[in-house]
Amino acid sequence: MEQIQQQQQQPVVVCGGGVIGVCTAYFLAKKGASVTLIEKSSIACAASGKAGGFLALDWCDGGPLSNLARASFNLHRSLSLQLDGPQAYGYRPLHALSLSLSLSLSLSDHPVAVPPNSSRPTILPSWVDGPARNPKTIGTTDTTAQLHPHLFTRTLLSSAVANHRLEVVIGELERVEVDGAGRASAVVLKDGRTMKADAVVLALGPWSCRLPLLSSLFRVSGLKVHSIVLQPREPHTITPHALFLSYYPAHGDAEKPLDPEVYPRPTGEVYLCGPSAEAEVPDDPEQVVGDPEAIKVLRRVAELVSSHLGEGEAHVKAEQACFLPSTDDSVPVIGEIPGAKGCYVATGHGCWGILNGPATGAAMAELVLDGRTSIVDLTPFSPSRFVSSRQL
Ligand SMILES: Cc1cc2nc3c(=O)[nH]c(=O)nc-3n(C[C@H](O)[C@H](O)[C@H](O)COP(=O)(O)OP(=O)(O)OC[C@H]3O[C@@H](n4cnc5c(N)ncnc54)[C@H](O)[C@@H]3O)c2cc1C
Repeated sequence: MEQIQQQQQQPVVVCGGGVIGVCTAYFLAKKGASVTLIEKSSIACAASGKAGGFLALDWCDGGPLSNLARASFNLHRSLSLQLDGPQAYGYRPLHALSLSLSLSLSLSDHPVAVPPNSSRPTILPSWVDGPARNPKTIGTTDTTAQLHPHLFTRTLLSSAVANHRLEVVIGELERVEVDGAGRASAVVLKDGRTMKADAVVLALGPWSCRLPLLSSLFRVSGLKVHSIVLQPREPHTITPHALFLSYYPAHGDAEKPLDPEVYPRPTGEVYLCGPSAEAEVPDDPEQVVGDPEAIKVLRRVAELVSSHLGEGEAHVKAEQACFLPSTDDSVPVIGEIPGAKGCYVATGHGCWGILNGPATGAAMAELVLDGRTSIVDLTPFSPSRFVSSRQL
């Protein structure tokens, strides 16, 4: 695909304005391509705007995501030096703790701050003043960080629009046209507009399999996950500690055990996510709303974690839900689509899409423009793994 960079006539068209599509468009444009990004609703309107924004260097080690995650964690750090600032997207290293939270303990029963057999005592931050137990350090400022995912995605896009050849089109992709030589040549939108393309990248998250070109190869399902954003009255008391909770409701309570997560942000707001459910992904991302029961559970967890997050102490800024895009083997699909030359897919990033966006985008830009990647080996993510040897 070296010829694309040298004799580009038509843009590279990237479909989907979530973190994966925007990172891909950003790195393509930075490498000199003319890029059109097509988004059907608004930029980062789905999981990419409603995620926690937690990043970890080594939590994917030992699995197929390890190299992608490590490369991406480091890219996030360098991107933040170029693009982040006081009004940008709130990147910062932070500590991460695991805790258990049980309603069978009374709120006045003070937690044990030093876990047994721990060589490095973990002290609970003072704002975590509810019935939390067994705190353990699971990430430090060298290995864990955070950002605001909606602001990150939009900052990257604005930078590419301002400094490179990137145009955003609001419209819904209907299909990709493949010419007689089996090569992607154009995209057709639902409203009838057709755009010629030198290459097409499909980054449609949980909507990927609405396209027969992809659903004929693999499945991407969506798990609905709820979250809330709180603005405490005294934000200065909340320190940069991400909390990974095991929450055991009181005996007889209808709620099941849960693993909610709590992320204080540099803006002073506190993000919590947790209850999930199998649900149909609606056509319109703006129609994804939270289930009131799940939101109630998150409000209860918030007030148990900290008196600063209880009713009257914190204002509710958002109650929401979004879908995690997952493949059947839980590994993202990143690469050229078998049988459609010049047409690429990047989806199925599960619970690590914000972390893995930059390395996915940078590697995809290399693959599209140079025909090979140097930043990370994409072989484990190839869509051809879903094609039986007889079909190849
Ligand atoms: C509650 C929650 C918390 C999370 N927390 C974290 C975290 O802390 N760290 C982390 O690394 N990851 C996290 N994730 C995972 C992360 O949010 C996702 O993996 C990531 O956002 C997926 O990005 P995406 O671009 O693939 O999909 P999406 O964000 O879903 O974007 C897909 C886009 O495609 C558009 N689209 C769909 N169909 C069409 C079409 N036909 N034409 C044009 N546009 C179309 C949609 O409108 C949408 O904007 C979390 C996820 C959830 C649900």
